[in-house]
Amino acid sequence: MSQPHERIVILGGGPGGYEAALVAAQLGSQVTVVDSDGLGGACVLTDCVPSKTLIATSTTMSVVHGAPDLGIRVGAVPGGAVRGGAAPGGTVSGRGQAQVDAPRVYARVKALAQAQSADVAKRLAAEGVETITGRGALAGPDTVVADGQRIQAGAVLIATGAMPRVLPGAEPDGERILNWRQLYDLPELPPELIVVGSGVTGAEFASAYQALGSQVTLVSSRERVLPHEDADAAMVVEDVFRRRGMTVLGRSRAAEVKRTRDGVVVTLEGGRTVRGSHCLLTVGMVPATRGLGLEEAGVTLDSLGFVEVDRVSRTTVRGVYAAGDCTGVMMLASVAAMQGRIAMWHTLGEAVKPIRLDHVAATIFTDPEIATVGVTANAVESGAEDAVAVKLPLATNARAKMQGFRDGFVKLFARRGTGLVLGGVVVAPRASELILGVSLAVEQSLTVDQMAQTFAVYPSLSGSLTEAARRLMLPASGRR
Ligand SMILES: Cc1cc2nc3c(=O)[nH]c(=O)nc-3n(C[C@H](O)[C@H](O)[C@H](O)COP(=O)(O)OP(=O)(O)OC[C@H]3O[C@@H](n4cnc5c(N)ncnc54)[C@H](O)[C@@H]3O)c2cc1C
Repeated sequence: MSQPHERIVILGGGPGGYEAALVAAQLGSQVTVVDSDGLGGACVLTDCVPSKTLIATSTTMSVVHGAPDLGIRVGAVPGGAVRGGAAPGGTVSGRGQAQVDAPRVYARVKALAQAQSADVAKRLAAEGVETITGRGALAGPDTVVADGQRIQAGAVLIATGAMPRVLPGAEPDGERILNWRQLYDLPELPPELIVVGSGVTGAEFASAYQALGSQVTLVSSRERVLPHEDADAAMVVEDVFRRRGMTVLGRSRAAEVKRTRDGVVVTLEGGRTVRGSHCLLTVGMVPATRGLGLEEAGVTLDSLGFVEVDRVSRTTVRGVYAAGDCTGVMMLASVAAMQGRIAMWHTLGEAVKPIRLDHVAATIFTDPEIATVGVTANAVESGAEDAVAVKLPLATNARAKMQGFRDGFVKLFARRGTGLVLGGVVVAPRASELILGVSLAVEQSLTVDQMAQTFAVYPSLSGSLTEAARRLMLPASGRR
């Protein structure tokens, strides 16, 4: 175990790295963060923060689309420039009478990301963390080389993240064939966007661009979108996608993407082709672990190149820890940050609880959002968890009716017999905010009885959570 004042060196300034740095500095260590592409990492500069900023605009667009149902008449656009879809070659697109100014949206996204990165830099500096701009690598288990320096470390944290996977035959060109990090440099909204991949990233961008006014085709290799998520939730989202005019191609694997004179053509396995103006590839991530001297130092990587770690972020080499996407554990900023903090608490001799992935709350920022925590419906249905479940459609919630929300539900899982809350799924606008109630219950081992006895505001969407808990309350003779 290293001592608090020993030097800690962190490779990577994303949430895995910078949150760890803050903890180590707080505990009195001398901390150096080496980062090659900007503090805040891909999370702040290209992935999480930019996509959620774009989605803030697309969600507002959805609200505007729904405004007439709530009795709001939107005035005519000056100049009469109303269009039903994105304007080919233009910068402004609209649905009905609301318009999206793509260059302004993208400029806002990039400015916000830069500002957030600057905030991270300021915070690290304020806490006395040294930062080095450049690529770093291990030169042995306790030595890092970066920017021409050799730094001796009491402990090293690898938090170098991951990069978009490239599909052979569909290499991004940054103009028509894109990964998500290239979207914000486009001069326009893609009029006809083909999204390849229907996992979380693909579904989020398909949802956002559909709302912004692009004609979206979603190519999914599986039977339905979001194949790894709660099936009921995925079905709601897919229904909404289709109802809003998206083309969803299930069981369709992209084999090749090529540019045409003025767009792209995606060839699916089997030979069918799909044409559009742009193609966005969301086919997974590969770990950024090459050329870091990891294996040479004895750190074990798995067959895909992810760093193997235990639940306190230890690698196979004493004093070398890893956190975040480079471990492939659960590719979320919140998990990266927690893994990084745990690594520092562990190496600096603080009391530490191993990470509990079954307590991680996560959200898919489609419209509506899908938020989950705890056990899954699959685990309950397969009998792996001895649990009871209840699902309440949002359509029965008074607040949802008032707001005009009809797509979504609240699902709650509880241990059979004891009523311990084991998890839940919320599909709703702002489900990301609503899931906290279930998260608290799971983390604090609350029962459905305790949840049911908690006041919810009337009318509120969270009222459906306490109602779901009530439905699972004991008949004193025992739960079903
Ligand atoms: C489109 C998209 C949307 C997302 N949205 C969400 C969301 O809403 N919520 C959520 O929780 N998660 C989200 N994520 C996941 C989240 O972005 C990642 O889990 C998070 O970025 C992981 O943090 P990290 O610190 O491991 O790596 P990163 O954020 O990738 O940071 C790693 C840093 O290390 C640097 N680096 C790499 N190699 C070296 C080297 N050799 N030397 C020095 N520096 C190096 C990189 O340049 C980078 O700055 C999203 C991901 C994507 C792709």
